[in-house]
Amino acid sequence: MKCPNCGGREAVEIDMHSEGFSAETSPVKECGTCGLVWRIKVTGDRHELDIIKQADKK
Ligand SMILES: [Zn+2]
Repeated sequence: MKCPNCGGREAVEIDMHSEGFSAETSPVKECGTCGLVWRIKVTGDRHELDIIKQADKK
């Protein structure tokens, strides 16, 4: 999946066991290019972008 902020393809999945995954929530991803941390929440047939940490500003 591409980064929704910068379009980078170096996103990595982050293990967040403490958060408690559900079937409706995809794994958290972090962009290796801009630092954005996000995940996709799935509600029915809708995919919603859930930004956990904004991209690093330089
Ligand atoms: Zn990015």
